[in-house]
Amino acid sequence: MHEFGHTLGLMHEHQHPEASIPWDKEKTYALYRQNFGWSKAEVDKNVLPLTRDANRTYAPYDRHSVMHYKVSNTYTVGDWEQAENSHISAADIASVRRIYP
Ligand SMILES: [Zn+2]
Repeated sequence: MHEFGHTLGLMHEHQHPEASIPWDKEKTYALYRQNFGWSKAEVDKNVLPLTRDANRTYAPYDRHSVMHYKVSNTYTVGDWEQAENSHISAADIASVRRIYP
């Protein structure tokens, strides 16, 4: 479902400029390198927050989006986590309807 969302034009929800996920960046880089072999650049591109792009349209942040990665407490500072979302959310449906009216 997540990858299909990309083909429809959806971006990663956990990278939404308003997500405010308290990432422990150094630990996130280290864990993604250890667990998935990802470089810092790949983590920046796919995991950590992106700055707002004036050429994109944003819906409000939706932590229940199928486009949101699972985020465990080991990647964040304090007590913040998000389980894997395996179902499309109402906001996912609304976003795709805006793209393909
Ligand atoms: Zn993705």
